[in-house]
Amino acid sequence: MPPADFIATPNEGEIRREREKGRELRRSPWWKRRRSSGRCHWCGTVVAPDALTMDHVVPLVRGGRSTRGNVVPACKPCNDEKKHALAFEWQPRPAMLRRLDARLRGHTPVLAVHEPARRAAVAVVLAPEEAALRLLLIRRAEHPNDPWSGHMAFPGGRAEDEDADLVATAIRETREEIGLDLKAHGTLLTRLDDVQAYAGGSALDMVVSPFLFVLDQVRETVPDPREVAESLWVPMEHLLDPASHGTLSVDRAGLVADFPAFHIGPHAVWGLTFRMIRGLLDLVEGTFDGSLRDASLHQPEVARTRPN
Ligand SMILES: [Zn+2]
Repeated sequence: MPPADFIATPNEGEIRREREKGRELRRSPWWKRRRSSGRCHWCGTVVAPDALTMDHVVPLVRGGRSTRGNVVPACKPCNDEKKHALAFEWQPRPAMLRRLDARLRGHTPVLAVHEPARRAAVAVVLAPEEAALRLLLIRRAEHPNDPWSGHMAFPGGRAEDEDADLVATAIRETREEIGLDLKAHGTLLTRLDDVQAYAGGSALDMVVSPFLFVLDQVRETVPDPREVAESLWVPMEHLLDPASHGTLSVDRAGLVADFPAFHIGPHAVWGLTFRMIRGLLDLVEGTFDGSLRDASLHQPEVARTRPN
């Protein structure tokens, strides 16, 4: 932090004078040219030029002046969020996170109707990185007794008696598997749709409940090698790009099934985690047909099967 006297504290009269200068500057041809691109200086969003506000890089209350060098065109959300912060104290929230905030109002997750024999919970963790938003995925360790051995997944696991509720399960498992403390660094945004668990093509009497968290920033994780082979922060833009959408062929006792999948470098995300990501993308961008939401609880969609 800079010392408190880094910027002189202006008095009321000075602030009033600078506000008046700001109003004049707003009427100038220079400002009209400056905002004609419609691009927000902070987040890069393009809006109608007259929807851009004049933002003081160093705010007036922090001693900033209404000069050409200290004002930038900013979208309304950036101007509102930045308030009295200095540029280095503040980062614009990714536009996707803002849309998510808006879409979460009125969001009701679809929950399992029948109580299953077993319950599990996972943490779907987003984190902003500059203007982008990243999603945390893990690759499960190879383990002979794990039906999802080596799969791409979200951190999470079975509910234990010690867990107060399913959110507590997701938080505990995330801490155990990758050393990430969601209580300290995360905010729970919402619960997502319950998903029926399948293993090896058979439905299990088990429901997985995903919980959506957002972190303050992308954070380092420390995978426990007994449970997690690696973890990665995948840009949401990548998952939204149709180029990453494909299928994965899985051989089941001589019958090959093609499952819809997201391709991330050498990894394919399919099955349970695919369905949960699709639910998330649907929530964020309305990318997939919302009518699939109810179906997601019941059937993993198999594109086609053929003999091997
Ligand atoms: Zn902006």
